[in-house]
Amino acid sequence: MEINDQDNPKWRLRATQQTPTKSIREVLTLLVNSRDAADQRPFIQLGHGDPSAFPSFRTARINEDAIVDAVKSGSFNSYAPALGLLPTRRAIAEYLSADLPYRLSSDDILVTTGGRQAIRVVLSALAGFSTANVLFPKPGYPFYEVTAKYVNLEFRHFNLLPERGWEVDIDSLESLADENTVAMVIINPGNPCGNVYSYQHLNQIAETAKKLGIFVISDEAYGHLAFGSKPFVPMGVFGAIVPVFTLGTLSKRWTVPGWRLGWVATSDPSGALKETKVVDCLIDRLDFFSNPTTFVQGAVPKILENAKGEFFNNYVNLLSQCADTCCNKVQEIECINCPSKPEGSMFVMVKLDVWDLDDIRDDMEFCMKLAKEEAVIVLPGTALGLKGWLRITFAIEPSLLEEGLAKLKAFCKRHTKQK
Ligand SMILES: *Cc1c(COP(=O)(O)O)cnc(C)c1O
Repeated sequence: MEINDQDNPKWRLRATQQTPTKSIREVLTLLVNSRDAADQRPFIQLGHGDPSAFPSFRTARINEDAIVDAVKSGSFNSYAPALGLLPTRRAIAEYLSADLPYRLSSDDILVTTGGRQAIRVVLSALAGFSTANVLFPKPGYPFYEVTAKYVNLEFRHFNLLPERGWEVDIDSLESLADENTVAMVIINPGNPCGNVYSYQHLNQIAETAKKLGIFVISDEAYGHLAFGSKPFVPMGVFGAIVPVFTLGTLSKRWTVPGWRLGWVATSDPSGALKETKVVDCLIDRLDFFSNPTTFVQGAVPKILENAKGEFFNNYVNLLSQCADTCCNKVQEIECINCPSKPEGSMFVMVKLDVWDLDDIRDDMEFCMKLAKEEAVIVLPGTALGLKGWLRITFAIEPSLLEEGLAKLKAFCKRHTKQK
């Protein structure tokens, strides 16, 4: 064995290349750091989906009280079981069952540290099946790609169709799947697209997945945040056609992403998943991660019980108004257009026409210059797998939204080619 020379150590661990897939956070940090250090203007964040700090979006006081009560009860100072506290799992099962044609039980629920850990648990379980591949939407939520790379799970992308309300391109889906494909992901209501899928489209997805012999991972982080013509329909409704893993979280509907509480629900009323042992793998993986803070779990039954209150109506109305403001303002901007109005979630995808612009070659450069010149942050589509597009978050304080969009407009005007 070669021993390192003390004066000249050769560290075995060397820096390797970073993963080429950047998370949304990394891209946003890049934008924020792109401007001069001397510039002290506060950024207007149209880049990420966390409105919790804005007064208009603060969660209902009863939710905060539920946490305080849980802490003060002294009943939640211990470790929780790996799968989550039983009353918490039962409450999540009840909450989800209200929208399903069958009932989930606490056995169908795993409690996770936010929605992102739900993604991690499911993808790392699938990575345990060698040769498996999964299908992700494009554009999508890059945390899926980042996680899949991390756990060595092969993935492929099917397209979403902007001209059809960002529905799944079923042909593209079918052409990608092969005998090793085990699952597909949908995000509904959509991040980044603001789509809300109709009952018919979800049914079509379920039938296609059944035909392909794959199950569906339905990311419903924005569940119930729908304000267009279509109601939110959970994918679990089609659980008898195709097994569904539903991923959920308190982060978005309750605007409390800091509380780090999510779940994986297995909707498999026909028992199709039993022999695959995939649920055992999920449970196995869950044991590897640390689970959410026990007192937050303890507050969940009360928080979910309150899920139909005034807060939610006001919240969805506010999102709807913000989406309208955003679309109306974007329409006034020549180099940007919006092929599909958002009907849910907190985002809209808009197309950037760079050839109208003087000194901007692509969406990334657009966002860098926008951050630098106007202190406005917008997410480049490149970060989401769709070059030439931008994702705008409209879930921010309405006065700031107006200001940010006015700056976006001024920026575009200033960079438009003189004809
Ligand atoms: C925010 C989000 C999640 C999970 O969020 P957590 O903050 O980890 O609860 C999952 N999927 C999508 C599409 C999201 O936007």
